[in-house]
Amino acid sequence: MKRRLKIAIDGPAGAGKSTVAKEVAKQLSYVYIDTGAMYRALTLKVIRQGINFTDEYEVGQLARETIISIGHISSQDGLYSVFLDGEDVTDAIRAPKVNQNVSKAAKIIEVRKHMVYLQRQMGEQGGIVMDGRDIGTVVLPNAELKIFLTASLEMRARRRYEELKEKGYDVNFENLIQEIKQRDEMDSNRKVSPLSQADDAILIDTTDLSIQEVVQLIIVHSEGR
Ligand code: C5P
Repeated sequence: MKRRLKIAIDGPAGAGKSTVAKEVAKQLSYVYIDTGAMYRALTLKVIRQGINFTDEYEVGQLARETIISIGHISSQDGLYSVFLDGEDVTDAIRAPKVNQNVSKAAKIIEVRKHMVYLQRQMGEQGGIVMDGRDIGTVVLPNAELKIFLTASLEMRARRRYEELKEKGYDVNFENLIQEIKQRDEMDSNRKVSPLSQADDAILIDTTDLSIQEVVQLIIVHSEGR
């Protein structure tokens, strides 16, 4: 029987991680796990409860008592829903307000401890593609294949712009560039498990590549592992 791998895909916002990870999972018949969605779901709850993101104790407490799960509707086409305490928040977690605040929740130690614990449980069986910021370095350091996806800031902002426009949000391109820049800075400079490329990760710059080209590169790298 073919070995079912753990594939870790990390990189900054808008590098194409989720689109690519979903397609790789589909082609290999693996499960796709979007760890960013978990931080987003908690962020949504913090906003709804009116808790201040600087109150790290409160936010950490909230993380531990919150049930976040990912339900796979179809592993064939990568469709999944994100549940926050049983409520489907798949669309709500993509709102600009969540984008603007998620890195504040993600830098809190207690939040990360809890998320990493849940993510390791999800990944331990193998046969998964997990994307995020710290998957190759912290969550699954023993992943058989680690990919670090990147792209120019301009291209990443353009992709997010199209994505948000399509969802009907009123977005300003220049503001989006600033927001992504800020989020990257916070994610890269935080004390606990910052966004960084694992020593054994393969770097792919997606600026001038199509989704299919990136997917094929990853599939080729997965063969023989
Ligand atoms: O991937 P996505 O843009 O949905 O991630 C949202 C945010 O969640 C990131 O900007 C980062 O602050 C946080 N995150 C993280 N670690 C992960 C995944 C996401 O800190 N493994």
